Amino acid sequence: MVRYVYAFTEGGRDMADLLGGKGANLAEMTRMGLPVPPGFTVTTEACRAFLTTGSEPGGLIREISDHLAVLEKAAGRRLGQPDDPLLLSVRSGARFCMPGMMETILDIGLNDESVLGLAKSSGDERFAWDSYRRLVQMFGNTVMGVDGALFENAMVRLKEARGAVDDLGLNARDLSELVEAYKGLIRHETGEYFPQSPAEQLRRAVLAVFESWDGERARLYRRREHISDDLGTAVNVQTMVFGNLGPDSGSGVAFTRDPATGHRGLYGDYLPNAQGEDVVAGIRNTVGLEQLKHLNPEAYVRLRDHMGLLETHYRDLCDIEFTIERGRLWMLQTRVGKRTAEAAFTIAAGLIDEGLITPDEGLARVGGEALARLMFPRFDTDAVGPALAHGIPASPGAAVGAVVFDSAEAVRRAAAGEKVILVRQETTPDDLPGMVAAQAVLTSRGGKTSHAAVVARGMGKVCVCGAEDISVDPRERRFSVGDTTVEEGTVISVDGSEGAVHQGAAPLVDSAVMRYFETGEGSAGVVDAVARAMHHADRVRRLGVRANADTPQDAARARRFGAEGIGLCRTEHMFLGDRRQLVEAMILARTDAERERALDALLPLQRQDFAGILEAMDGLPVTIRLLDPPLHEFLPDRTELAVRIAAAEAHGSPAGAHDTELLDAVNRMHEENPMLGLRGVRLGLVAPGLVAMQVRAIAEAVAERKQAGGDPRAEIMVPLIDTVEELRLVRQEVEQVLAEVSKTTGVPVECPVGTMIELPRAALTAGRIAEEAAFFSFGTNDLTQTTWGFSRDDVEAAFFSAYLDKGIFKVSPFETIDRDGVGRLVGIAVAEGRATRPGLKIGVCGEHGGDPESVHFFHAAGLDYVSCSPFRVPVARLEAGRAAL
Ligand code: ADP
Ligand code: MG
Ligand code: MG
Repeated sequence: MVRYVYAFTEGGRDMADLLGGKGANLAEMTRMGLPVPPGFTVTTEACRAFLTTGSEPGGLIREISDHLAVLEKAAGRRLGQPDDPLLLSVRSGARFCMPGMMETILDIGLNDESVLGLAKSSGDERFAWDSYRRLVQMFGNTVMGVDGALFENAMVRLKEARGAVDDLGLNARDLSELVEAYKGLIRHETGEYFPQSPAEQLRRAVLAVFESWDGERARLYRRREHISDDLGTAVNVQTMVFGNLGPDSGSGVAFTRDPATGHRGLYGDYLPNAQGEDVVAGIRNTVGLEQLKHLNPEAYVRLRDHMGLLETHYRDLCDIEFTIERGRLWMLQTRVGKRTAEAAFTIAAGLIDEGLITPDEGLARVGGEALARLMFPRFDTDAVGPALAHGIPASPGAAVGAVVFDSAEAVRRAAAGEKVILVRQETTPDDLPGMVAAQAVLTSRGGKTSHAAVVARGMGKVCVCGAEDISVDPRERRFSVGDTTVEEGTVISVDGSEGAVHQGAAPLVDSAVMRYFETGEGSAGVVDAVARAMHHADRVRRLGVRANADTPQDAARARRFGAEGIGLCRTEHMFLGDRRQLVEAMILARTDAERERALDALLPLQRQDFAGILEAMDGLPVTIRLLDPPLHEFLPDRTELAVRIAAAEAHGSPAGAHDTELLDAVNRMHEENPMLGLRGVRLGLVAPGLVAMQVRAIAEAVAERKQAGGDPRAEIMVPLIDTVEELRLVRQEVEQVLAEVSKTTGVPVECPVGTMIELPRAALTAGRIAEEAAFFSFGTNDLTQTTWGFSRDDVEAAFFSAYLDKGIFKVSPFETIDRDGVGRLVGIAVAEGRATRPGLKIGVCGEHGGDPESVHFFHAAGLDYVSCSPFRVPVARLEAGRAAL
């Protein structure tokens, strides 16, 4: 029989699929003997069953009551027992942590009767009413769907009426009034009474958590984080402990290391006389953990010991949630904590040094995206003036943008292409769309563990929080600091590494990590941690990493970044600029002699290009692709040209012969679907002399470099092959030219001739193509376009966001390789190509070559190398290493 409920004493951290992350870790802590309030977990399987059928699976309620009976027996109290009630929390907890995205309901079991019992048993009337007020509020909002703002407003009004600064200014009588007001609100909004039956409260809370999985907030978060929609959430039912029982009670959040920098040492926020959700909500300002040392030395020492134990046990940065009830410490949650890119590298290096993890494990814990983030520029600290305001550096990086004060405005302006900074007093999950749209988030309240901080860090977004000097006025759409007022739309700069806010656009400088890659300089802090990870990745990786580069400067930079050659040297940019006229002349040529003259003029220029690149990559392979795009891309735009001619004629000066000729050519060459038209090898086969000129330029550059004592390793790559016959013909021409150049220069020039595999037919007939190809290189951009039948330039704007919304894909196939379709073609081509030609060298040169997930796929597919843009080379090296672990 399926089982839907597990006691905390039965689970463990390896059961996260079934128990969710929170449940699995609560069980693990229970097992380690840490003080966890007892409870049980309803499985994700029960949630999935509920969400598919719309009703709770048979036997679930029975199992829950059985486990509840065990809790009650151990506690010697019953749920909601009138004189001394057992209270419960009902907490969501999915496989992957989704902070604040789903629901939690505290103090289940209170009603009009048991609140009095609680007041008596605890000896604290205010506490009892405060707890009841929280239950009615959370239950009303989460389970019964009443707008949370209505409760907030009622509370604000009461505080104003009592002249209270915060919730602590309300006494027991005030709170009992508030409970009545809340109940009235619920009745008014839903037509229903707040349920007095503890059993009904429990059942409905569990189902509401199931439903929160499908809430809009949770969906949006999952889409961003690429978490599957069909995992479901577990529900943890746990005995309540109370942080709101007076000054020797409280709640907090803590990290075993600093999640922003990765430095060792406890880090956290504590809020005396509060329940856990108050810490994150930022209703009052928290104090640092050092303060707890003074407030409650015994609990502090215990907390420190438990955290040490957890870090050694998990061998990683852990974050925890804890509550102190009348001096007694309770552990309410732990997990391997989220961290910034900088912290990820620093912590990995630190744990290796401390002997807690191996270098392989360290490498597994850092990633290409984090590395890419560290390569971004920061503000130039020498050039920026004094800060307008300071806050807590919650998520590092530099951001410049226009100030906005609500999520909708952020989304609206960002959609129009503007860079914005979302400024709020504090954020709530409702601000998520605005946070996604913004460059940075700035709040005037809350600590490093506030909603804004946690979510921004998870997204890699810049965040400064708790900037208390700022007073935010969302209604007037401005904020002020002292005498300075900043209106909506004004540009500011937010420095998430320093926690500073500057007026205007502050100047940027390169990052230390970038400088290290560029120059090899720097050895301190995060640079050292990155260097060590790179070193280890280079040791273990099997995949080679090359760069896509078509200038000597790019080639040289790629080489400094660790590229082991060029996987794609495009030749089209070499036809632009001043040379456009020569290309035009070639296209417009009426006789062979005219065409040859144009090609002859292009030859020395191309030769020079190649010589420069071969020199920069001396000793390393340089794969040069013959001209790929359709020729008309080098001619003027058809409409523009026609308009120009018409305008000239309207002014009585008839178009020149050149323009008319151009227009003729443009009309002749116009294609409805250039992507599928006369381009790539097709062009080489029908435009006389083009291939010969390019190959001659390559061969002469090779000869020149050899004569200069260099070691040039040019490879010639033919684009857009459909069939082996195309390659055979081009290759004959190439070899003829190579032989001629060898003869005339007296320098033997041999260049391997290979092909791109970027059309489905080429992939499917790769066994035949390999007869003629010395190497393959997958052009995954075109292969993705032609496999899906998508024109990249058209579909991304037209409907990709709708497809992502509908979940048709989780990520654009142009960003991460589509394993099932395009990946299958890659697999076929690799297998059949190598069956014909064992040891055939195979690489990839589409943009996927620098995408972490795709790199893992290419490793598994048995490719020899990936090639990507120079800036992604370190990312690809790192990921290639991780793929080999
Ligand atoms: P989230 O996943 O959003 O962090 P949690 O389930 O952790 O939600 O609940 C939020 C907060 O509620 C916790 O940090 C904790 O302080 C408080 N809480 C949850 N369960 C209990 C409990 N059994 N006793 C006291 N406080 C609790
Ligand atoms: Mg939590
Ligand atoms: Mg292509």
